This record gives sequence, C-alpha cells and structure tokens, in this order.
Amino acid sequence: MYKIPIANPSINNKEAKAAYDVIKKGWISMGKEVLDLENKIKKYLDVKHAILFNNGTSALHAALSFYNIGPGDEVIVPTLSYISSANVILYCGAKPVFCECDPKTFNVEPKHIIEKITKKTKAIITVDLKGMPVNYDKIKKEIKKYNLPLISDSAEAFGSIYKNKKVGSQFDFHSFSFFANKNMTLGEGGLVTTNKKKFADFLRIFRNQGQEGRYNHTYVGNNYRPTDYAAAIGKVQLKKIESVLIEKNKIAKIYNKAFKNINLVETPYLPNYVTRHTWYMYCLTFSDKINRDKIKDLINKKGIDTRLSFPPIHLQPVYKKKFGYKKGDFPVSEKVFNQFLDIPCWKGMGLKNINYIINVIKKLLKK
Ligand SMILES: *Cc1c(COP(=O)(O)O)cnc(C)c1O
Repeated sequence: MYKIPIANPSINNKEAKAAYDVIKKGWISMGKEVLDLENKIKKYLDVKHAILFNNGTSALHAALSFYNIGPGDEVIVPTLSYISSANVILYCGAKPVFCECDPKTFNVEPKHIIEKITKKTKAIITVDLKGMPVNYDKIKKEIKKYNLPLISDSAEAFGSIYKNKKVGSQFDFHSFSFFANKNMTLGEGGLVTTNKKKFADFLRIFRNQGQEGRYNHTYVGNNYRPTDYAAAIGKVQLKKIESVLIEKNKIAKIYNKAFKNINLVETPYLPNYVTRHTWYMYCLTFSDKINRDKIKDLINKKGIDTRLSFPPIHLQPVYKKKFGYKKGDFPVSEKVFNQFLDIPCWKGMGLKNINYIINVIKKLLKK
C-alpha cells in the first residue's frame, strides 16, 4: 500500500444507504432507479437520450453494433487507448485498423484517421484520452465527405466540456464508463448518449437481449443491463461529480504551475477548444533523455503511487499474434507511452500531499 494512492473514489455512507434502500425494497434488477438516473444524466449532460449499461465496454459495443458491421469490414481506432476500444470491433467480427495520435495532445487528428480510410471502412471510433475531448468539430468537418459514422469512446470524459458544451452529443454516439477508478462510479457501469431517437431505441433493445415486447426477440442482443442498486449509487455520485471535477481542476492547476518551467518534464497541453478537462488521470510526460521507469520507481519508493498509461493496443500480445503487429508500427504512440506517468489527482488528497508529490518529483529531476 502506498501512502498516497493513484485514485480514491469519493464513496461513503450515502452510497451505501442508497444501495441498501433499494435492496430492501426487493426490486434489484433494472427498473425505476435506472430510468431515474438516466433522466438525471440527460439533464446534466444536456443530451436527448442517455442509456445506462452494466459497463463501459458493453456500452461502446452496443453503439458500434447499430451499424451492422461484420467480417470484411474495418473500423478505425487509435492504438493509444484502453483495450476495450479495439475489442468491441472484434466482438462485431470486423477488423480494428489502428491509427496514430498527435504528439502534443495525444489525441487523434483528422489526418491520422483519413490516412487509414479504405473502401472497407465502416465506422470511426475516437478516444478522449485521460478525459480530454478530441476536436470533434474539426474531425466532423474533415471526415464529412466520407460519410462515416463517428463514435466517441468518452469513457474518461464524463463531465468534460468542449467549446462550452458538455461532452455527449458532439458525435453520433458517446460511450462512458463508471468503473471504480473513473470520476463517477457505480462500481461497474456504463452509458451511451445520443441525440437521435432511433439510436436510443436500438440501444435499449440491444441491451435487453434484442427483445421488443416480452419474449419477442427481433435482434441478437446481449444482456448488458445495469442493476437498480448500482443506479441508486450512481444517483448519489451524480450529485458529487461537479465537486469532484472542480477539485481535480484545482489540483491540475497547481501541478501545471509547479512543473511548468522544470526541465525534463512536460505538463499536459490543453487546446483552446477544451473548456474543461476531467483529469481522469493527471499525466506528466518525461523527456526521452531520462529513464522514466527509474523515476517511477524512485517516486514509488517515497510512498506515492503512479501509473503507466495503457500500452498501445497493437503491442498487446493478443493483437500481435492475431494481426502480426510489431514494435515500431506506430512510433508516436509507442514513444509517448514510454514517457508518460500518471500521478495522484483526486478529491480530498489535500494540499500537503500535493506539495509533497511536487517536491519529490522536482528533487529527483534536479539530481
Ligand atoms: C475505462 C475505459 C473503458 C472501459 O470501461 P469499463 O467500464 O471498464 O468496461 C473503455 N475505454 C476507455 C478509454 C476507458 O478508459
């Protein structure tokens, strides 16, 4: 155990009581609580439709499944993401085609997508890495002539604000995750938002075994239903999310200032279109002149937990074996992955811990 953990969910008696109350009532599977949370999220994100799922991976899979994609089809996705972003393409029987990211924002730019479009491309998935939105408008504008569906894996971006509007309705679909280390959590949980009714109708049917009317199955769906007690926890969490995001933004600001003029380390770059970041993780990028792994060890030895980001998906053993990818195929993503280090940034960690972390890292860099 570290003195300062990497994340610490703001969860307490209120969530426990909310779950207890639902369980006591006796209706624990999907019901009124799920619908209630969906309606509250709709208001919070200012979207027309919000559909709750049992996790973020199934949410993304459901969105992609709308397009009837299958064998022989391709879907473009950044390699620098969590495994789910690509696995959902395989669940559909299609081929994930990886793309690079921008060396400054670490998100995809239109050119990275366009160079991978072929006749077989059926959809595009982008990822709001660490909770920072991609430039939706720019991507929409430059991809328009290809007429391809745009799905955003916004798993880490619940509450992020893009050009003064919350993330959730910029693309055809946005999926989110409420896993334990995300800014809002149901333990396990997911969400899809969309502004189109026919998309929302599909998602509700897909989530419930393709059922339209009792035991009348019109589609091969899945059991991706969330529970009512998870939704009850979610309702308490939704009340806290603004305070979590406000505090994380304060901490990020302190880190940004502290590390701004320090050699050998870069703070996250925020483009103008980002009105608010969620700081799912606060990530420092160390210079390639120093050994990031050594720095990580030394920071850990001081009682501070840290995380490496997700390795690029094309280097995961299962993808290497399946598609023959190798080191060097996506040099930018591989390089930045080796320089990244997430440091603690969570509500309630306190100024003392923040300053301790800053001093430890500054001292190590001076050596
Ligand atoms: C957390 C996460 C997911 C998956 O969510 P689960 O709820 O764990 O299934 C997908 N994509 C990204 C980028 C994530 O960070």
